[in-house]
Amino acid sequence: MKHKIVTGIFIAALLLVGILYYNHPDLILFLTIIIVLYLAITAIGSYQIKLNYYINSLNHTADDSIALTFDDGPDPATTPQILEILKLANLKATFFIIGKNAEKYPELIKAINADGHIIGNHSYSHNSGIGIYSRQKLVDDVNRCSDTIEKITGVRPTIFRPPFGVTNPRYAYLLQTTGLKSIGWTIRSYDTTIENEKKLYNRITSQLKAGSIVLLHDTSTTTIRMLPALINYCNQNNLPVKPINVLTEQ
Ligand SMILES: [Zn+2]
Repeated sequence: MKHKIVTGIFIAALLLVGILYYNHPDLILFLTIIIVLYLAITAIGSYQIKLNYYINSLNHTADDSIALTFDDGPDPATTPQILEILKLANLKATFFIIGKNAEKYPELIKAINADGHIIGNHSYSHNSGIGIYSRQKLVDDVNRCSDTIEKITGVRPTIFRPPFGVTNPRYAYLLQTTGLKSIGWTIRSYDTTIENEKKLYNRITSQLKAGSIVLLHDTSTTTIRMLPALINYCNQNNLPVKPINVLTEQ
């Protein structure tokens, strides 16, 4: 969407410069600068899901509630502990699960579902090369994740989070083909790299405000140690925590 507009502007700029400076000795340099600038913008658009450059993603909640989202599970070492903390707090969250992990640990998917959390699609493979998949390969991978979840829970996911938050024009095709809604985030916690739970807590709470979607991982032990304090913070500051589907179905 924004990508198409930007592409149009740059093609027009190339043509205009080509016409205006067709005899200029530095014409090639001018054209090169325009092309490099274009490539830089498309790269930033690819890595910044919040920009809604290639696709529209939900980057904050519609009703000002807080959405705690957990990516990359399920993991038998950590997911049950996250579920226990949420159950004690009587909170519902959103889990963007990886299809191949779901296939390995279907009981954990059943437990997430039985506890009333929302399960979203985070691709089947979560392959580091998924950004260069052809559009059909991407659709197949994402559908395979939805098929796996549906087979275990009987419910087909309606929401999707792009692995690594990376998007490109093939993701626009994916959303169109599958009908999935893309969910981004407001706050990226970096809980897979931050090991100190106090530091993680401060990083999140310093940015947290009504409507924040928080990107966490149920594979992170730092998150397990930090989560009760974060939930307390939400309670004390009158920030209601809800799962994503409540928000998108409004
Ligand atoms: Zn992920």
